[in-house]
Amino acid sequence: MIEENLVKVEKFIQIAKKNCPHQEDITLIAVSKTKSIEDVKKAYEVGIRDFGENKVQELIDKYEALPKDIKWHMIGHLQRNKVKYIIDKVHLIHSVDSLKLAEAISKEAMKHNLCMPILIEINIANEISKFGVCLDDAEELVKNIAKLKGILIQGVMTVAPFVENEEDNRVYFKRLYEFFIDIRDKNIDNTNMRYVSMGMTGDYKVAIEEGANIVRIGTGIFGNR
Ligand SMILES: *Cc1c(COP(=O)(O)O)cnc(C)c1O
Repeated sequence: MIEENLVKVEKFIQIAKKNCPHQEDITLIAVSKTKSIEDVKKAYEVGIRDFGENKVQELIDKYEALPKDIKWHMIGHLQRNKVKYIIDKVHLIHSVDSLKLAEAISKEAMKHNLCMPILIEINIANEISKFGVCLDDAEELVKNIAKLKGILIQGVMTVAPFVENEEDNRVYFKRLYEFFIDIRDKNIDNTNMRYVSMGMTGDYKVAIEEGANIVRIGTGIFGNR
């Protein structure tokens, strides 16, 4: 089932890419939260290497149990006091939305003598239920985080609203992509803006058409949670 789902998702990604004027490489992250080690192994065996988790403990457990060439993506809300458990295990932290969290990442990264790639999570539709910095405050946050050592901002991420019709999210994806281009073109020191992480099972096709180059797909690969 996982293999068939992946074939389908990858086909839809290729189709959506044709409708995207930028035509970039797209990274598919298989969101394995709540799913078993066996399920991750199945996706691994058909070639997936990027996996997304939203809880620190679950990420660590899977990290320990699975091959070391997996790139783990932290996509969920991260508490400052838990940064130390994952700092040397994750490939990219997608969910940085405050200077305080960035400072904690910077501190732990320096202890390990590494530079942690991160994305800035933006609450693009200003939903009260969601994490993320609002768009109006995002540029200032980028500038402040860029001053920290041991951390490298590589782009932006959003979790768009839950909608029945993915077209309803097009406006939000457009808005995030515009922000990404604006901030990228400012060439802020110590940033390397290259990733736009947006689009989940319900809306990744539209997200890709609007410029996503990382999509995070759980249900569409592993089935319902
Ligand atoms: C769970 C989750 C996803 C994947 O959601 P699906 O709708 O199952 O594809 C993507 N991004 C984040 C941040 C998530 O928490």
